[in-house]
Amino acid sequence: MSSIFSKIIAREIPARIVYEDDHMIAFLDINPVNPGHTLVVPKNEQPNVLESSEEDLVQVLRVVRLLAPAIVKAVGADGFNTVTNTGEASGQSVPHTHFHIIPRFLNDGHMPWAHASMSAEALDAVATKIKQAL
Ligand code: 5GP
Repeated sequence: MSSIFSKIIAREIPARIVYEDDHMIAFLDINPVNPGHTLVVPKNEQPNVLESSEEDLVQVLRVVRLLAPAIVKAVGADGFNTVTNTGEASGQSVPHTHFHIIPRFLNDGHMPWAHASMSAEALDAVATKIKQAL
């Protein structure tokens, strides 16, 4: 296992690192949605959040909480999205757990996802299936 992010951690390829500690690293996304788009990555390489340890995920969110205000301040953003993609259908392209911090600007054109309406019966049925699957 050596993802492109592990190569960044090992300094085999360069990145604009903005935070690092023993367990976590954060660097600018090479193709940002907006300036300041940052990836927060556990050094322990796992393919996605379901495979990472609870401790790593706690640490990821600690770093997100630390970095997000600094990113917002640095680029003068109005807000930010935090997102992690899991699986091909979600758009995940790098199989190494990471959270995106994407600075957002009012009217920046990056519209949120389209929501649909769903009947009460259909919502009930999905909720029941999820609880049964737990
Ligand atoms: P995903 O699509 O897996 O949720 O996100 C992967 C992200 O990694 C993408 O936004 C992509 O632009 C970024 N990325 C891919 N390769 C590199 C790289 O070599 N360096 C950096 N800094 N970002 C990368």
